[in-house]
Amino acid sequence: MREAVTPESVTPEQPVIYASELVLPVSGPAIRDGAVLVRDGRISSIGTISDLERDNPNAEVRRFPHQTIVPGAVNVHAHLGFRRGDGPEGGPFSKWLAALIERLPEKEAWTAEAARNSAREAVEAGTTFMAESSPYGECLPQLAESGMVGTVYAEFFPHDIGDGTPEGAVDFIFEEARKLREGLPERVDCAVSVHSTYTVDPESSRLAARRSREMGWRLAVHISESPEEVEFVRNGTGGLTAIFGSNEWGGTGLSPVLYAENIELLSPGTIAAHLATEVSEEDIGVLARTGTAAAHCPRSNDFLDCGVSPVPRMIERGVRVGIGTDGLWSSPSLNVFEEALFAVDLHGFDGATGLELATIGGARALGVGDETGSLEAGKWADLAVVDVAPSGSEPERQILEAAADGGVVATVAGGRLIYNRDEG
Ligand SMILES: [Zn+2]
Repeated sequence: MREAVTPESVTPEQPVIYASELVLPVSGPAIRDGAVLVRDGRISSIGTISDLERDNPNAEVRRFPHQTIVPGAVNVHAHLGFRRGDGPEGGPFSKWLAALIERLPEKEAWTAEAARNSAREAVEAGTTFMAESSPYGECLPQLAESGMVGTVYAEFFPHDIGDGTPEGAVDFIFEEARKLREGLPERVDCAVSVHSTYTVDPESSRLAARRSREMGWRLAVHISESPEEVEFVRNGTGGLTAIFGSNEWGGTGLSPVLYAENIELLSPGTIAAHLATEVSEEDIGVLARTGTAAAHCPRSNDFLDCGVSPVPRMIERGVRVGIGTDGLWSSPSLNVFEEALFAVDLHGFDGATGLELATIGGARALGVGDETGSLEAGKWADLAVVDVAPSGSEPERQILEAAADGGVVATVAGGRLIYNRDEG
C-alpha cells in the first residue's frame, strides 16, 4: 500500500524517508529495499529501509514499494516558451528558423502559457534542475514557480537594445539579469546567454562572456548547431546569411568552435549547446582544453537535419556532457530521460551511461555536480520516482525506458514533493 502523499504535507524541515524497492544513487551501487532520508531539503543519509527506519523513528515514511528512486533529471539546455503541435516543419535548419522568426509576433500572446505547460511537463518527467534559455529571460517566472531549480539564461540581440554599441547592449542585458535575479526562490537564478555565433556580433559576444566570468556566472551559447551555421562562420554565405543579411562578421575561415574560442566564448563556465555539425577532432581538443561543457540535444539535431554530435569522442577526451531537450518546436518532449534513451540508441551507449548523462553528467556540465545529480548524503534531495522495479541485467536501461514512457510517478526537488501522480 502506498501511503497518501500530498505536496502540502511535506515541508523541508520535517525529516522524511523516501523508500522504494530499488534506490539507484548513480554515484554508487543500487540498494534493494532502499531509502533516502531527507532533512532540511538535503539528503541526510541513504541506505536500506529497515536501517533508516530504525535509526530515525520520528521520520515520516513515504513508500513507493514497487518503484525505483533515481536522481532527478538535469536538463542542460531547454527552451520553455514553445508549445507542442503547431511548430514549423523540421529541417533544413535555416528554413525552420526563418519560419520560427516569422511567428515571433504572434507567439508573444501565448509564450507565458507555453512556458508554464512546458515546465509542468518537465516536472512530471522527473526533471529537478534546468538550464533554460529564453529571450531576455522571459521564461524565468515559469521556471521559478514550477518547483524546479536551475538557471534561466537571458538571450540578447544587440541590434534591438541599448545605444547601438556592443557596450550598450551588454550593459543593458546584465542590468536586466541583475533585476531578474531579485526575489527568486532558493537555487533559482538568472545569467546571460550569447544566443549564437550568427545572431550576436563578435564584440558583444566577447564583452558578455568576459562580464559573465567577472560576475562568476555561467554562459549559455548555441555552437556548431547546423550546416548553415558552419557555412556562415566559415564562408559568410548560406541560408543564415539570407535571414540575417546585415550580420557581416561571417566568413572567418574558421569552424564555429574555433571562432568561439577566438572571441573568448569558451571557458569552464560555458555551456555549448548542440555541437552537432562538423565538430572535428581539433574542435573537440579546443573544447577539452578550454573546459567548455556540452549540451547534447540529439532529437532536436535529428529533427533539424543538423547531424550527430560526436559525444563518445568528447567524453573520451574529458569534455563534460549533459543532456538537453531544446524546446517543443524542435523536439517532441521535455523529457530528459527520453532524450537520454535516444542518445543511448544513437551512440550505442549502455543504459548506465545514459542515466549518468541525464543526471550527474548534466550536473557536472553545469558546475553543480557537488550539489545535485546523484543521491549522496549532503547533496540536495533532488530525485525522481519511476514506476518500474527492474529485474534484468541492465536496470538503468529499464528505468530510462519506463521514464521515457511516462513512468515518473513523483518528483522531489530540494526535499519538496513537486509532483505526485496519485495526487494529480
Ligand atoms: Zn537551443
